[in-house]
Amino acid sequence: MICVLVKYSEIALKGKNRSWFVGRLVRNLHGALAGLHIKEVRTLIGRIEIVLGQDEALPEVGDRLSRVFGIAHYSVATRVPPDFESMAAAIESQLPPKEAAESFRVHVRRADSKFPIPSPELARDLGSRVWTARGWKVDLDHADLVIRVEIIPGSAFCYVGREPGLGGLPMGTGGRLVGLLSGGIDSPVAAWRMMKRGCNVTLVHFHSAPFLSNTSQEKARQLAEVLTRYQLRTKLYLVPFGELQRQITLSVQGDLRVIIYRRLMLRIAQRVASHVRARALVTGDVIGQVASQTLDNMAVIDQAAQIPVFRPLVAMDKEEIIAEAQRLGTFGISIVPDQDSCTLFTPRHPETHARRYAVDEAEKTLPVDTMIKTAVDSAVVEQLSYPRA
Ligand code: ATP
Ligand code: MG
Repeated sequence: MICVLVKYSEIALKGKNRSWFVGRLVRNLHGALAGLHIKEVRTLIGRIEIVLGQDEALPEVGDRLSRVFGIAHYSVATRVPPDFESMAAAIESQLPPKEAAESFRVHVRRADSKFPIPSPELARDLGSRVWTARGWKVDLDHADLVIRVEIIPGSAFCYVGREPGLGGLPMGTGGRLVGLLSGGIDSPVAAWRMMKRGCNVTLVHFHSAPFLSNTSQEKARQLAEVLTRYQLRTKLYLVPFGELQRQITLSVQGDLRVIIYRRLMLRIAQRVASHVRARALVTGDVIGQVASQTLDNMAVIDQAAQIPVFRPLVAMDKEEIIAEAQRLGTFGISIVPDQDSCTLFTPRHPETHARRYAVDEAEKTLPVDTMIKTAVDSAVVEQLSYPRA
């Protein structure tokens, strides 16, 4: 019987909470595979078996699994009774053609202490069958192909090779955050990093329509869709920010505006966080990347929030962030030109070392509470899900 065998990563280490983590992963697997022909997803001593209804679903199953957090690796396996002939036949049926490899090794793991044949002996005997079938040489250290057999009471899983998973922790085990999503390269990567640690991220995008075009909202929506392929459900808040910026320009001197915009964004995001029961915020700030991202400015900006503000990219280079954005699939969307909110009413020489008292003085001239309330009340909330119904 063909199945997919999933091995989980760190969650194996989580002591008493382990069954909760695994249960969450199983639930997420059900969600990620929704709409495919899956008979069952079940846990079996340190691994998860996905029983497929139809072999045709395999490439799609693999594609979906490649975006599930908490998987160390996964393989298409054959499950057979744990006798030598059945195992050897299962392996032979999965071997690639002779040209595909030059060397191999067989790795046997027993999660059944009653199984009579010692692992090295079984590996050797199965190896000799492979050698007869393909003539590859055995290489215990750098084999081209690793053939694995895992024995549990009553069954053996046999498979050739395995696919790496994303690692991280199962979605939903880390609590909820609010992510500030611009149309840029960094913020989707930052949100994704938190997702990878099991956090569900509600996304907030500030746009300046009708002062600027709608492209930033469309980009935010597309970015949110890509991120939803990882977390399965996303709430996206589209918050009109242009009018608030206009108000700020009327009473705040040019060089401080970006700081005041950012502080207001954090406060609005924090209000959203209280609505969705999120415990912290996440942004794509990187030290030194732009004027608003100096250490002095970040410190003053953060003082506007009462909950933690996470910046998972703070110490990364642009090249590293771009590589990650490409891997996760947001880069192509992020580089489409648009008119970002922060380009609206922004001075050419923003403050790089904001001082707290100057910012406080500037904010005293603004009806901050009303501004937050207006923004949250006029936000449009969209619910995204994957796979799409
Ligand atoms: P990004 O690529 O994430 O846009 P950036 O290098 O353009 O980053 P900034 O524009 O200074 O940097 O923004 C810093 C962070 O502030 C962003 O990563 C994002 O979390 C948040 N942010 C900025 N603009 C917006 C916006 N219009 N809507 C939501 N969040 C925003
Ligand atoms: Mg930006």
